[in-house]
Amino acid sequence: MSKIWANSGDSHLVEPDGLFEQGLPPALAERMPRSVKDDDGRWETVHVDGQTFRRRIPSRPLRDTETGMTVAERAPGAGDPVLRLKDLDAEGIWAELIYPSIGIWTSSIEDPALLREGVKVINDWAIGFQRTSPRFVCTASVPLLAAHDAVAEIERAAGLGYKAAFFPVAPPPSQPAYQHDVWEPVWAALEETGLVLSFHIGTEPHDAGSRNGTYHSGPGGAVLNYFETTFGGQRCTAQLIASGALDRHPGLRVMVSEGGATWGPFMADRLDEGYRQHASAVRPTLSKPPSRFLYEQVYASFQHDRSAVPAQWAMGWENVMWGSDYPHIEGTFGHTQKTLHELFDDVDEVVRRRITLGAFEELFPHVPPCPAESGD
Ligand code: MN
Repeated sequence: MSKIWANSGDSHLVEPDGLFEQGLPPALAERMPRSVKDDDGRWETVHVDGQTFRRRIPSRPLRDTETGMTVAERAPGAGDPVLRLKDLDAEGIWAELIYPSIGIWTSSIEDPALLREGVKVINDWAIGFQRTSPRFVCTASVPLLAAHDAVAEIERAAGLGYKAAFFPVAPPPSQPAYQHDVWEPVWAALEETGLVLSFHIGTEPHDAGSRNGTYHSGPGGAVLNYFETTFGGQRCTAQLIASGALDRHPGLRVMVSEGGATWGPFMADRLDEGYRQHASAVRPTLSKPPSRFLYEQVYASFQHDRSAVPAQWAMGWENVMWGSDYPHIEGTFGHTQKTLHELFDDVDEVVRRRITLGAFEELFPHVPPCPAESGD
């Protein structure tokens, strides 16, 4: 079976222990996110600025459920660039858009000064990771407790060499949602610097699910909770389109990682219907139908969804992109080639290339092209 090479629109690194202790005064470092694992390795307690929450550690089904291995133990390349490239070569993954791991918990910090300084430490470390290989496209973290802090860090990150910025799918609880004008300077800064606005699903501040009534327990809870994570990416995309942010910033590109892709054409139709049928109540008016902004400026990655492939060839959304979610449990690490063959063996070559390589190349043209697109 020949190897199918793909870029990944959804990957993660694992920050080293002690990152904040090395980069911040002790009084600030102890308030940054850290994870303490139980002795049996099955649960962790995450501490963030005086808040604590318990989280079951994802472990692989079948054999690895017994070992209870953490991400770092299962995939040592998660935090080591040299080992990582070996994993990528074995899996057939060329370049990656890479999100933080512990850095995602910074969305629960409520002190602007702490967030501002902590994010700098994360970004100063992750840019070093990116510089080890042109195949790594790391996302800069952004302090979202004040728009001027966000703009300053976006500009600093662009100067460091970042090409993408990680945004949680909902801003901190003290801030208004993304359709509001307070974010306008942030969208302008992203457009100006060329950084891709990269949302990763499941990154709402930790208490958002409780407030929204979208944390499930009881029968089906695990599947229901996983299902719920997909909607955050759709909401923030709709907010950017309906509020006119993408209309005002035609150079702004949006990525939604890990949330599937078939929602794109569906949502485009729904937004157009609302915009057209409720025209008398619609504000602002847009220069073209909402669907056009989605089709032209928004990209999305999926891992296993068979329905995502026809979203490109049957529904016409060119910006469908595959993603491995390396090294996470929802992803394809260990079975990437099996998944890619199942998804693409019966698909037209042009479609396969667009989803596995082309959409990513369009979003990140600075990345050198994959030298061996298929074969061994
Ligand atoms: Mn992911």
